Amino acid sequence: LGPTICVGEILVEIVATTVGDGFTDAQPLVGPYPSGAPAIFIDQCGRFGGAAAMIGAVGDDDFGRVNLDRLKRDGVDVSAIAVDPDWPTGSAFVRYRADGSRDFVYNIATSAAARFGWTAEVEALARRAGHLHVMGSALSMPEAREVIARALPIVRARGGTVSLDPNLRKELRQGAEAGQLFATLLSECDLLLPSGEELELAAGTDGEARAVGTLLTGGCGEIVLKRGAAGASAFAPDGSRVDALAFEVEELDPTGAGDCFGGAYVTARRLGLPTEAALTYACAAGARNVTVRGPMEGAATRAELDAFIAATPRAPG
Ligand code: ATP
Repeated sequence: LGPTICVGEILVEIVATTVGDGFTDAQPLVGPYPSGAPAIFIDQCGRFGGAAAMIGAVGDDDFGRVNLDRLKRDGVDVSAIAVDPDWPTGSAFVRYRADGSRDFVYNIATSAAARFGWTAEVEALARRAGHLHVMGSALSMPEAREVIARALPIVRARGGTVSLDPNLRKELRQGAEAGQLFATLLSECDLLLPSGEELELAAGTDGEARAVGTLLTGGCGEIVLKRGAAGASAFAPDGSRVDALAFEVEELDPTGAGDCFGGAYVTARRLGLPTEAALTYACAAGARNVTVRGPMEGAATRAELDAFIAATPRAPG
């Protein structure tokens, strides 16, 4: 039907190589790595072999070129990525705490990442898209919200499908308007990809089974729950459920696992694979990604995932 499209922040990520609380002390950092949850998602779609296109903006600087070069290399259509002459490419600094949680320092609002709008290129892309994937993180930016809200009915009108990853980040504020669009997307998405507590937050109820039931009754077409090192589960409105064990890997850098998982799942399903096979590819994409430093560095081709699946044991359930 047309490419999978994703709208939102394109960033570079700088990662602290030491574990600790925050960024107030001088410490070794590595990067820049191409990043931004929507960009990681779409890169994994392209690498897996699906038609994929990105909507967003970078600055006219090296950080922007790092992203454009990577996305192009991985087969992503970048025709609707604007190069902003006035604002620098957005950035995210991440540092891990001893308990595995993360702190981010973002520069999005005052960067090119948040300064893009509805252009002729964006409209042309929306008019040939077959699937729209929305990242919750992008809903914190008014400009991205507007593009998503305009693209949604266009993609729908041509029979396209929609997926939503809540991707909640405490550092990114979601105001009332973001909440409204999130609620609309929740009630009409074909696929929801929450992780951890996002499922219960999205449903507004406690307990996994009740949250799944509430969301499916509320109009969401399918739910794929990401469980980190415990794997994933897919829930369909007919009550059927498919569980997948995680792959056993050594985690070096968990950022981007969920985005790679989503990119592989959406693309595998759009290429016609059944739920179980798509879930296996998605778990493999997430697991492989955490073994590599840098959020987009582990995005894998289908052949790379086949090799990874053949060589890697599944974690005990
Ligand atoms: P992020 O926000 O960091 O991108 P997320 O919280 O959205 O990630 P996770 O549940 O952490 O998503 O990871 C997505 C998927 O990747 C999991 O369902 C699992 O299949 C795989 N995965 C993540 N971490 C690991 C791990 N340590 N070992 C094996 N598989 C993992």
